[in-house]
Amino acid sequence: MTAAAEPAPVQLDPRTFPDGGCVALPARRGGSSATVVLDAGHGGPDPGAVGTTPDGTAVVEKELTLAVALAAADDLRDRGNTVVLTRSTEALGTGVGADDGQVGALTTDMSQEDLEARVRCANLARAHALVSVHFNSFADPTVGGTETLYEPERPLAPQSRALAESLQTSIRSRLAELGRPPADRGVVDDSSGGEAGGGHLVLLGPRIPGYIDEPSAMPAALVEPLFITNPTDLGAIASSTGMDALGEAVSGGVSDYLAGARRR
Ligand SMILES: [Zn+2]
Repeated sequence: MTAAAEPAPVQLDPRTFPDGGCVALPARRGGSSATVVLDAGHGGPDPGAVGTTPDGTAVVEKELTLAVALAAADDLRDRGNTVVLTRSTEALGTGVGADDGQVGALTTDMSQEDLEARVRCANLARAHALVSVHFNSFADPTVGGTETLYEPERPLAPQSRALAESLQTSIRSRLAELGRPPADRGVVDDSSGGEAGGGHLVLLGPRIPGYIDEPSAMPAALVEPLFITNPTDLGAIASSTGMDALGEAVSGGVSDYLAGARRR
């Protein structure tokens, strides 16, 4: 007996994305029922926020987002979906900043370029859903909770809201099973704050000439499962078991949304 070979990953546009960027992972069974883009926030020279677990271990947002996206991808492929990862390695899947010796941050222009390339990847994939994975942060370490962002006014908004609500429900129920049900901060407008500090998120927003020239073309949501700056919340998920559980929660939320979309 030999195990069936794992279907090979396919890079969607190797001319413009570096190795590991914008990679399609085929479904593991049946014909693919849907294509889902998973966007692991930050990467490479952009660490995102940093937190500390109760036992003093530093945790970097870019590592958590990748672990959760990879776990979610695994589960979604088992459920018969094609998954496209905007980045599949530690590096930025867009290559932005890779040659500039940037460490610790991207310039505003570089961050914009990186986000635009992530949207281009999602649009190339002709995905049925786009989910961006981030973790929230705040100066006060007692602030916590689960939040999911979507854009409320585009023609896609009802589907984006349904996707965001499925994700929020699935993530909160999984965190409750882990013994850490954070406050429900709800499904919120993408211009209500989040990481953008006001204004629409490039990944979710409508066309805004000079700012978002190519908007994402599918229902989309950005999850913030909890605050990386809240040590108790972080301690509950900062393990391979916790990452897998959050990944399964993301996969479950997307799957519930896709099942509902097929019924509509
Ligand atoms: Zn982030």
